[in-house]
Amino acid sequence: MELLKERIRKDGVLKPGNVLKVDNFLNHQMDIKLMNEIGKEFKKRFEGEQIDKILTIEASGIGIAAIVAQYFDCNMVFAKKSKSINLDGDMLTAKIESFTHKRVYDVIVSKKFINPGEKILVIDDFMANGCAARGLCKLIVDAGAEIVGIGIVIEKGFQSGGQDLRDQGFRVESLAIVDGMDDEAGTIQFRE
Ligand code: 5GP
Repeated sequence: MELLKERIRKDGVLKPGNVLKVDNFLNHQMDIKLMNEIGKEFKKRFEGEQIDKILTIEASGIGIAAIVAQYFDCNMVFAKKSKSINLDGDMLTAKIESFTHKRVYDVIVSKKFINPGEKILVIDDFMANGCAARGLCKLIVDAGAEIVGIGIVIEKGFQSGGQDLRDQGFRVESLAIVDGMDDEAGTIQFRE
């Protein structure tokens, strides 16, 4: 998605540790016009697919997924990061290691909100090692629902998550794939 790549080139900030900061338009301040274009693009890429619900993870996935859900005319559910796992069986749970915070979270979704047989699209802001996406897919499988695909705004293609998930047969659609970045030189390469 050319508009997104241009915006990353203009406003993205490269940080040590292979972190790309996009606080100016995606992760803190959100450019809603751009979010709408992102929603349209996901709708185009998953055209013809039945999507009953969108699943994302708090916090930075929520705003994006809410806008994307408008284009699919469906509800959005977000997995919550939880300090205490409730064991009474009414929650779906997964463990997710945070790439940016380097810690493991238990994430939960109420079983009420993902129903057996529902067709679910996973949406997230970034893909690095694929831990967040894999955790969200586990919640869907445990609910007896179906994963239609995984839509990612920015995939860091030099980290293995996206390729691993594609190799496992998942449909991963990323709107911009970064193949390399150098925080010292301030350069970023996108996949064509
Ligand atoms: P993964 O689970 O694929 O390793 O990492 C994906 C998650 O980590 C995303 O939900 C995102 O919040 C965060 N993340 C990973 N890499 C970056 C990055 O370069 N920049 C930002 N802002 N977040 C990232």
